[in-house]
Amino acid sequence: MTKMRVRFAPSPTGALHIGGVRTALYDYLLAKKHGGTFVLRIEDTDQKRYVEGAEDYIVNALKWCGLEPDEGPGIGGDFGPYRQSERKDIYQKYMQQLLDNEHAYYAFDTAEELDAMREKVKAEGKHSFQYDASTRMMMRNSLSLSEEDVKVLLENETPYTIRFKMPENQEVTVNDLIREEVTFQTNELDDKVLMKSGGLPTYHLANIVDDHLMEITHVIRGEEWLPSTGLHVMMYRCFGWEDSMPKFAHLPLILKPAPNTYVTKRTKDQFTESFAAEFMKSTDLEISLEDVKKIVAQVFSNPKDIQSQLKVGKNDDGKKKAVKAFLKSAMYGKLSKRDGDRLGFPVFPLSWEGKSEADSFVGFKEIGFDAKAVNNFLVFLGWNPGTEQEMFSMKEMINAFSLERVGKSGAKFDYEKARWFNQQYLMNKDDEKIAEELGVLLSEKGLGANEAFLEKVAAMMKERVHFIPEILESGYYLFEPIKSYDDKTIQKRWKPESREKMNLLAATIKGIMSFDAITIESAVKQFMEEQELGFGEVLPILRLAVSGTTMGPSVFDIMALLGHEETVNRMTASYKYFDGVIVE
Ligand code: GLU
Repeated sequence: MTKMRVRFAPSPTGALHIGGVRTALYDYLLAKKHGGTFVLRIEDTDQKRYVEGAEDYIVNALKWCGLEPDEGPGIGGDFGPYRQSERKDIYQKYMQQLLDNEHAYYAFDTAEELDAMREKVKAEGKHSFQYDASTRMMMRNSLSLSEEDVKVLLENETPYTIRFKMPENQEVTVNDLIREEVTFQTNELDDKVLMKSGGLPTYHLANIVDDHLMEITHVIRGEEWLPSTGLHVMMYRCFGWEDSMPKFAHLPLILKPAPNTYVTKRTKDQFTESFAAEFMKSTDLEISLEDVKKIVAQVFSNPKDIQSQLKVGKNDDGKKKAVKAFLKSAMYGKLSKRDGDRLGFPVFPLSWEGKSEADSFVGFKEIGFDAKAVNNFLVFLGWNPGTEQEMFSMKEMINAFSLERVGKSGAKFDYEKARWFNQQYLMNKDDEKIAEELGVLLSEKGLGANEAFLEKVAAMMKERVHFIPEILESGYYLFEPIKSYDDKTIQKRWKPESREKMNLLAATIKGIMSFDAITIESAVKQFMEEQELGFGEVLPILRLAVSGTTMGPSVFDIMALLGHEETVNRMTASYKYFDGVIVE
């Protein structure tokens, strides 16, 4: 049996979208499950779209996710080079083979000529122009011109492209591992450019030649490539490689989150504002922001019912229709880079600093995600194990994964679920490891704490947050003096007449001999009994006094962590502050 070889073939055109990471994850899982090889190939033949730094980004993103290739640029392997820009000569040779076998031809049409043809076809009211068997003889190419003319044109170095000569009246069937049988009629396919003027191959040629030469057995890629696959299979046929052609698996789209997961009663005003503002930027219509807001607000009036509100009504005027059409495209369909900014979640694994702010993104990593949680979240965007199990280590994923269990229908991106996964991983993470990361984050802020202290913080906080950096946000008072108080609760709870009792409580706490959470708790409870005070009269105030807020872990744990002296000092200082709040 041939060894399984699965490749990930991204184009370095910018940061790698989370959908690309999912493809890489599935590639990796399939290869590892079958003892195969995971190959990284950089498809950088399109120089116009090449973006500096994108290849490094791809490599770093894969590394962070733990999806390290077995072969690839900078790694080596027997099938290199793995960067297409370094394989130009190879493509020339195979291009020649297609020319010699009359499966490809030179096309001398200039951009202006092609435009003119498109216009002409449009004016005749026909379908849009397609360069194919029905039109190629009307164009300027080595099929329509005489051999002599072609020779002259070539000798004069007239710019040309090379096109694939799509055979007529044939059927090509792709047996996709996910989509099953998909059949294409060659008469509907066009003569794609395989080599651009200047001698660089297009994606189609380079991709087929490389998959063949690199002995790739499985091609896993996004659904958007399915329409090209008819051409690809035809090319394998014309090269005479159909028998060893890789198996294809086209992954379902990753869709935008369901609108009712983010537009809620609480958030609808905020989203009305932001979507209306975005519409204003995208339209030439004469319409005021106020009017747009009214339309959006109406659509969002019942967040559970947005889809039916978006249907075009009989009485809708042009403006209303335009706003609805905009909302439809902004809220449904394929997940896009824009959605991250729009809805406030990451769609890239790592942060990316583009040339402009609009092209810069915060990554899952920088938000505080554990790569394991990201993989666990991503594996479910299209695949399911057929069981109730949700948490999968990489090893378990490798064992459980199969392309048969990848669905055809789009998978909705659910950011809450991603956060949930991260929380699960955080809860199961060793305190020591969390402490280490906290230490790093603290020192970035110019703060510090010893390891034992940080481990205790980790143990206390990890079940209460989704991300490690959140520990330093919601629990900042463990490392720094209180910065702000919840004044509303102080006004409600701080009774000047209880000042005396609260001073007594401070004295009681000062007198505790062994300052651990259990002893503090029993001392406080005993105090409440003796003074005939209820929980509500003491605990909220105590909590506010040591942390400034009413939220957070057990107040006794907080006190034990802060230490004896600090707790008592905070209590006295806070009481003074409380008095001031009441006076105001
Ligand atoms: N370079 C293509 C991309 O970036 C690869 C598609 C494929 O896997 O064939 O999507």
